[in-house]
Formats: sequence, C-alpha cells, structure tokens
Amino acid sequence: EPPAGCPPDVEQLGRATWTFLHTTAAYYPEKPSPSQRANMLMLISSLPVLYPCGWCAKDFGENIQKTKPDVSGRVALSRWLCNQHNEVNEKLGKEQFNCAKVDERWKDGPPDGSCD
Ligand code: FAD
Repeated sequence: EPPAGCPPDVEQLGRATWTFLHTTAAYYPEKPSPSQRANMLMLISSLPVLYPCGWCAKDFGENIQKTKPDVSGRVALSRWLCNQHNEVNEKLGKEQFNCAKVDERWKDGPPDGSCD
C-alpha cells in the first residue's frame, strides 16, 4: 500500500473503480430511460478505451464483447457487473464473489445493521 497522497497503483485504482461501478449499478433505475441506458452503455464501453491500466482495459474490452452489458435495469446490470468482476477475480486468482450478495455489499449493508 503506497503512502497516502501518492498516485494510485493498479490495486487502489481497481478498488476505487469497482466501488464506483458497483455503486452506480446498485442505484441505476429498475426502468431506465433510453438516455440512461445509452449513457450507461457509454460509461462501460469507454473503459476499454480510457482505463489507465493497459492490460486491464484490453481484457475487459474482450470480456464485454463476449458478454454484452445488460443495461435493461438495476438488477440485471448489477448481476452483469458482478459476473464481469468475477472474471477479473478468476484471472487474478482471487475468490469468486457470491452475486446474490451484491445489493447487501453495495447498497443495503448486512442484515445485522453493522454498517448502519
Ligand atoms: P477488488 O477486486 O478491487 O474488489 C473490491 C471489493 O469488491 C471486494 O473487497 C469485495 O467486497 C467486492 N467484490 C469482489 N468481487 C466482486 C464481484 N464480483 N461483484 C461485486 N463485488 C465484488 N488488476 C490486475 O492486476 N489486472 C487486471 O487485468 C485488472 N483488470 C481490471 C479491470 C477492471 C475493469 C477493473 C475495474 C479493475 C481491474 N483490475 C485488474 C484491478 C483488480 O480487479 C482489483 O481491483 C485489485 O486487484 C484490488 O483487488 P481487491 O482484492 O482489493 O478487491
């Protein structure tokens, strides 16, 4: 972990980016407007072009070609993104995340109220 105030390394950038993406998906509308859908598609498809980790960007681009983003609604998008994150987890030898818990992790917090 680099000292505070240093530019982010690939891990910090990844954590920050996943936090942003999963949280944005968690609050995406269940019935998005055409404009909301189009903008979400642009947000996701801009990552392979702009994400400042070259090999991350390239692999993510290939993955989203194979499994196109599902921007039809909140639940579908959260699930799609969870699966994409799990693809990266697998590549890096990290544990698979249980996608049934995606709302608990990124929106509601655990039932025991420990995050309230
Ligand atoms: P992270 O993987 O950053 O996860 C943060 C938190 O999200 C976890 O603590 C967990 O609570 C939760 N979480 C974990 N899995 C899921 C899931 N499937 N769904 C929902 N929540 C979940 N790093 C590389 O070294 N090589 C790469 O090619 C690479 N590609 C990346 C591509 C993208 C698009 C992004 C955003 C990041 C990429 N990264 C890559 C970074 C990598 O995914 C991690 O962010 C980084 O290694 C830090 O990992 P971490 O263990 O702290 O947890």
